[in-house]
Amino acid sequence: MRVSFLWAFLLVLSLGLAGCGGGADESTATPTLQKHKAVVDEGNVTAERITRADKDGDNWLTHGRTYDEQRYSPLTQVTSANVSQLGLAWSFDLPTKRGVEATPLVIDGVMYTTGPWSIVYAIDVRTGHQIWSYDPQVDRSWAQYACCDVVNRGVAAWGRHIFVGTLDGYLVGLDAESGTEVWRIDTIGRRAPYTITGAPRVIKGKVIIGNGGAEYGARGYVTAYDAETGRRVWRVYTVPGDPSRPFESPALEKAAATWTGEWWKSGGGGTVWDSMAYDPQLDLLYIGVGNGGPWNPKIRSTQGGDNLYLSSIIALRSETGDYVWHFQTTPGDAWDYAATQHIVLADLNIQGKQRKVLMQAPKNGFFYVLDRESGQLISAKNYVPVSWASRIDPATRRPVLTDDARYYEGTQPRLLRPSSAGGHNWQPMAFDPKVRRMFIPAIDMPGVFAADPHFEEKAGLWNTGTDRSYDAMPEDPAQLEQALAQSAALSSAALIAWDPVEQREVWRYVHTGGAGGGVLATAGGLVFEGDGSGEFAAFDTSTGRKLWHFDGQSAIQAAPISYAVDGNQYVTVMAGLGGAYALAGGAALERTAPVNRSRVLTFRLGANQHLPAVEPPAPRLLPDPPPDTAAPDQIALGRRLYAMRCSMCHGVNAISGGIIPDLRYMDANGHKGWDGVVTYGAKKLSGMPAFEKLLTLDETDAIHAYVTRRAWDVKRAAAATDKK
Ligand code: CA
Repeated sequence: MRVSFLWAFLLVLSLGLAGCGGGADESTATPTLQKHKAVVDEGNVTAERITRADKDGDNWLTHGRTYDEQRYSPLTQVTSANVSQLGLAWSFDLPTKRGVEATPLVIDGVMYTTGPWSIVYAIDVRTGHQIWSYDPQVDRSWAQYACCDVVNRGVAAWGRHIFVGTLDGYLVGLDAESGTEVWRIDTIGRRAPYTITGAPRVIKGKVIIGNGGAEYGARGYVTAYDAETGRRVWRVYTVPGDPSRPFESPALEKAAATWTGEWWKSGGGGTVWDSMAYDPQLDLLYIGVGNGGPWNPKIRSTQGGDNLYLSSIIALRSETGDYVWHFQTTPGDAWDYAATQHIVLADLNIQGKQRKVLMQAPKNGFFYVLDRESGQLISAKNYVPVSWASRIDPATRRPVLTDDARYYEGTQPRLLRPSSAGGHNWQPMAFDPKVRRMFIPAIDMPGVFAADPHFEEKAGLWNTGTDRSYDAMPEDPAQLEQALAQSAALSSAALIAWDPVEQREVWRYVHTGGAGGGVLATAGGLVFEGDGSGEFAAFDTSTGRKLWHFDGQSAIQAAPISYAVDGNQYVTVMAGLGGAYALAGGAALERTAPVNRSRVLTFRLGANQHLPAVEPPAPRLLPDPPPDTAAPDQIALGRRLYAMRCSMCHGVNAISGGIIPDLRYMDANGHKGWDGVVTYGAKKLSGMPAFEKLLTLDETDAIHAYVTRRAWDVKRAAAATDKK
């Protein structure tokens, strides 16, 4: 499909991805809530305890609840029959106003969770009161390497320690009781552009953590540290380095044969920024590997090649990090189709045979079922419409590319499904083993892919080799209306119940209030999910019927959890607008007037607390911008540079998503201080990088002229409305 209009990426924004103790006394705990105390050594997470977490519904001990990461709670107190009585038990306000993505842990009545800037909170789940908090004092200037907000997806626990990875690359061990630092390790050698947003996992006393940064020039790796001391045990790179130096492993030497040109100079990508799972019987650690850097393969690997182990799942020995097998979902990735999405392990009966499987719905739109002992492909089927590949060929295990997919062969922009946001992103799925269903927070949305004719690699900046100016919407008001309508018509988001054996959709709930967040399934026959409008809902596992909902007052993207204390089953989810889409913002998101209210929300049957009433937003004052006198070519240059360098945080078309300052509303001091902030880093401490070495003064002047024009656009539109 040729691109007839160029703003399809913005669909993501129209999806809004961005984004109590009272009542009845239900002291009748179900048997599930009372058993299993034998394996509990109070407050201490042991290998035995975490391996048997599937039998321990009271606690949520590791990121995906169990090592197989099914996110399935065996608790049955809250059911499809009584979920209507679920009410707010307590809420806990975070002091930050950025994106919230964490899955909390609950260990013997204490919740450990994280907010933006990698701040950790310990909360008493009986009262909702804070026990302690720990602020790692993240270097705020590191925000410039965080493509998708300064988020954190949660902690890990082992022994009497809690572990958090910080945005600026440290792994920290904390005392679980007091929140004091036990050790702190630099996982990145203070090298930009690495970040950490994912939750660590702990296996047999080793804390495992990866990094983000593929868009900025990173070379992906994952590292294991001793949980007691922080000593490094092993490190595994996911892509080969400079071949003139010895390879770190035979697996990387093999991988190097699939790369061409001088890939190591720009890092290659392949960061392990989110998903991991572990099979204790096989002693295999599974890691999800991210996209290539730059995205454009003509730049990354000039003569082609599969570029192992980009966009792959790799199985490693947990003790040594030794490579066992890999499966590459997207050979020669050109579309940011990372395989970092949630990995789920289960045992399934497939064609009469019990198979140990691994399942993933990576960004590329196909749902994969692999044999997790061998890495062999069992089946793959698209779970959202895809146009970059016609199918996965079962013989070659490879996608069959369409002609449109190869945008990098020419200069024509191409509209492809899924967009670079993927058919599914980091928001975790959930798997109900009883009914054999995966619940996928899916996105159906096209995106424009185009090679960037002006591409020039700049270390530490957005280096994808693709042209971001296609992400922008028309600035003309009438054209904008048309574009928004077309965008909305082309995109949707749904919670999909998927049968992984038959590879087919069983039901779907189509979101009307923004895309869905992470998912929880429970043995009570329920599936829980929040959405971009702030609605938190429970669905019937077998039919998808919405049975209950609650207004969370702010986009919910994080995954819910369930656990029990004193015989009461609780459900908790974290609310808080943020992430890539909320930053990129734009006209569609602006209309929903998004507000960040970052909170931990906890529910139980019969509880009836209320959130504080929402105050109407204060009217936005538009200070007088400087005169709009720039020449058209300066505005045009500013528009292009803004799209490439500024839009991912300050919003496309200079319309902010409500998290980071909207430059159109800058006051006189902002305009006067432009060079100080943009060029020399006067606001470095709030996360605004200095562009001194990256943009010339002529270039920042052009961006300023463009932003000024956009301020005048608002001013003129307001004047026109007043006249009417
Ligand atoms: Ca990416």
